[in-house]
Amino acid sequence: MAEISTIGMDRTRGGYSRHLFDSAERELREWFTTAAEGVGLDVDVDRNGNLWAWWGTPADGAVVTGSHVDSVPGGGAFDGPLGVASALVAVARLRREGFQPRRPIAVVVFAEEEGGRFGVPCLGSRLLTGAIPPERALRLTDGDGTTLADAATKAGFDPAHFGQDDAALARIGTFVELHVEQGRGLIDAGSPVAVGTGIDPHGRWRFSFTGRGDHAGTAAVADRNDPMIPASRTVLAARAAAGHGPRDTRATVGRLVPVPGGTNVIPMRVDLWLDSRATATDATREAVAAITEAARAAAHDEGCQVEVTEESWSGPVSFDPHLRDRLLATLREPPLLPTGAGHDAGVLAAHVPTGMLYVRNPTGISHSPAEHAENDDCEAGVEALADVLRELAA
Ligand SMILES: [Zn+2]
Repeated sequence: MAEISTIGMDRTRGGYSRHLFDSAERELREWFTTAAEGVGLDVDVDRNGNLWAWWGTPADGAVVTGSHVDSVPGGGAFDGPLGVASALVAVARLRREGFQPRRPIAVVVFAEEEGGRFGVPCLGSRLLTGAIPPERALRLTDGDGTTLADAATKAGFDPAHFGQDDAALARIGTFVELHVEQGRGLIDAGSPVAVGTGIDPHGRWRFSFTGRGDHAGTAAVADRNDPMIPASRTVLAARAAAGHGPRDTRATVGRLVPVPGGTNVIPMRVDLWLDSRATATDATREAVAAITEAARAAAHDEGCQVEVTEESWSGPVSFDPHLRDRLLATLREPPLLPTGAGHDAGVLAAHVPTGMLYVRNPTGISHSPAEHAENDDCEAGVEALADVLRELAA
């Protein structure tokens, strides 16, 4: 973790901004390759830009661990890289102690887990498993209008090869992802490590409000069709649709873009993105329906239009109960933890036995520079992951 502590630092937002195929992310790919080769692994990249480091000849049914190295804008140091670094350290320890795995072990780095550049989270694992058609993925654009197809080509990948990769999927016999905890479950449980139970359903929706751009000084309020007004009321509707407890319905607007975006300009368009999650699909869908209805009414009141697009949806995930019990027994019954945070493990769980380990985050805060993990807890995470790999690959 110290080796990558300066890569992709965001001087404006604080924390780190590391996005698919940008210079920081490519530097992290090089770091991973060097570090994995340093512990004796063979590094490979698949058709969708996911990196693989192999202990043993790649074969079907391997024990796979890993996470991601990209971040949200201004994210913390641990979200993603902790799982990757812990995997490399755990594998290095197993090799040093002379462990002989009977199944190959691989460490994977999934591409664009946060959707920080192209908007769809877990893009690498979704492409690999066929959860997103490559035609749709390759047309996604970043904030500058660059398509994934163009970004991939520039990074040396052939977009024609993107898409469902059955050979890569068949090589994953079991997947265990270690991740920094993104809430305060482990603070409350008083434990450094937990085993995951599943992931709440969640999704992302874009609301595009259009009105009439005009002059902030000369356009009378009565004459305005200002899309910022319904956008603002939609933000408040999101808060009203959410509950207050940590496991209640969550609805968040973390990104809102007025176009053209001038202080003395009434915007002609405002795009905002809603992130909504709940412990059940129905509750998530109901919240989005209520927010959408409020958005349409607010747009109508202001003489504006609104278009709502579902950009991603991840259904509820329950991790494999047999694997979960094995993790619990191997780790001497740590706490079990559900989560509202999405992970590549959630995408893979539809295809292969999948589990997660969480490492305590003493701030309880994530997707922020305040995210943290103490060295002793990271060490406990590495120990737990090494125990799990030893158990699963024996
Ligand atoms: Zn993550």
